[in-house]
Amino acid sequence: MTYDKAIVLGTGIAGLATARVLAKHFRTVTMIDRDDVPSNPQVRTGAAQGFHIHTLLPGGLDILNDLFPTLEGDLDAQGGHSAGPTQWYAYTAFGKTYRLSRFQPTPIDDGASRMRAQTRPLLEHCIRAQVEALPNVTARYKTMVDRPLVENGRITGVALATGEALQADLVVDATGRESQTLRWLDALGLNRPGETTVNCDFAYGTALFRPNDGAQFDDVCFLISSARKGEYVKRGGSLTKVEGGNWLVTLAGRLGDYPPKDSAGFMTFIDTLHNPRLGDLLKHADLLVAPKQYLFPKSVRRHFEKLSAFPDGLLPIGDALCHINPGYAQGMSLACRQVAELDRVLSERRDTSQPLGGLWRDFFPRAHEQTRAPWVFAALTDFSKKGTTGDFPEEEADAIADLKRLNKLADEGDRDAAQLVDSVFDMQAPLSAL
Ligand SMILES: Cc1cc2nc3c(=O)[nH]c(=O)nc-3n(C[C@H](O)[C@H](O)[C@H](O)COP(=O)(O)OP(=O)(O)OC[C@H]3O[C@@H](n4cnc5c(N)ncnc54)[C@H](O)[C@@H]3O)c2cc1C
Repeated sequence: MTYDKAIVLGTGIAGLATARVLAKHFRTVTMIDRDDVPSNPQVRTGAAQGFHIHTLLPGGLDILNDLFPTLEGDLDAQGGHSAGPTQWYAYTAFGKTYRLSRFQPTPIDDGASRMRAQTRPLLEHCIRAQVEALPNVTARYKTMVDRPLVENGRITGVALATGEALQADLVVDATGRESQTLRWLDALGLNRPGETTVNCDFAYGTALFRPNDGAQFDDVCFLISSARKGEYVKRGGSLTKVEGGNWLVTLAGRLGDYPPKDSAGFMTFIDTLHNPRLGDLLKHADLLVAPKQYLFPKSVRRHFEKLSAFPDGLLPIGDALCHINPGYAQGMSLACRQVAELDRVLSERRDTSQPLGGLWRDFFPRAHEQTRAPWVFAALTDFSKKGTTGDFPEEEADAIADLKRLNKLADEGDRDAAQLVDSVFDMQAPLSAL
């Protein structure tokens, strides 16, 4: 324990993982969320995306397992599912594949690519229970922050809407895409970071089904990716087994072709997918929760690493730094990788004379490095869809060339190349590994 008090704003996946890490370094950690966080797994107003599919890639799972060693047992006990190598796959226009990063028609059991299926509320609930149980962590829910406390240009805590002042040596902003940090920079007269954007114009529609007696599905999750040609090239779908053996069905569309919000339109959309598996299975299931839609207009990467001035005592993390088209299931794993960097930076600075002074100068470039792989994978696929606009990652031309070369080798049967591409796609290794 090196540091005194920390505050974490926002208790989504990024905030909870951050609080867990800060509890190792700080005497006390206070988590603040504006939501009235329920004591059982439920979709919350502040994380409404939680109703939709939330796949945790192996890179995120590895980090969460390190931070919360009993997590998978807790998920199993509450109805989550662990998927073996044959139990999750995708139907692409080229056929069935057991890897999402490339075409892999036979399952590979290398133990590296593991997948868990559950609702996001259950995942968050299991993590939250462990964080709240830490003796030096306090949670304050239904609590609004009014403004930062500032002394000599340094953030020294937050003032709540009630007028109460909470002092802290470090405030971490994990409030998601809207991020408090931007407004606070404005108030301090400092520049906001520049942004890179990809206008993916993406939408999910999700409904929950209960399989009935005739249902035959022994696997855990499958995706149907978009068709290569024809009228419905912007559409996809998925089925994930969640708690209670229920089926979470998420449909995806983009560039104006969104999954409908009404149940009849939802089922008709399913019939337009290039593979009939989802429609066939749903003939043996009853609708439990009607479709809900979620629009995601653009991916945004905020370039904090390029700022020359930033207040000490503050760090944004998770979606506040970078949020990417959810269709590639990277957000939670990216947040976890940033949190792991924060853990390392705090450990490295522990014995320096001013361990928290200029922390942002160390953290931002390393957090940015973690965004590179998911950003490139998502941008390449988004820009392959006609109509996507925004900033193509020209600066990653070398890495993209490496990726193409390795994919070709993998297609020719090179196991090492395949493993490398998979590990970067699965967020177990950074882009520089290519
Ligand atoms: C539709 C959709 C589907 C997704 N699917 C996946 C997936 O399959 N796999 C994956 O890895 N990722 C997925 N993501 C991304 C994932 O949800 C996030 O990237 C990840 O949870 C990290 O987000 P976060 O914790 O930074 O922010 P959030 O999860 O948005 O949490 C922000 C928290 O801050 C709180 N808050 C906000 N403002 C304030 C304030 N002013 N004061 C106090 N508290 C505040 C909110 O209540 C909330 O608890 C998906 C995202 C979307 C939109």
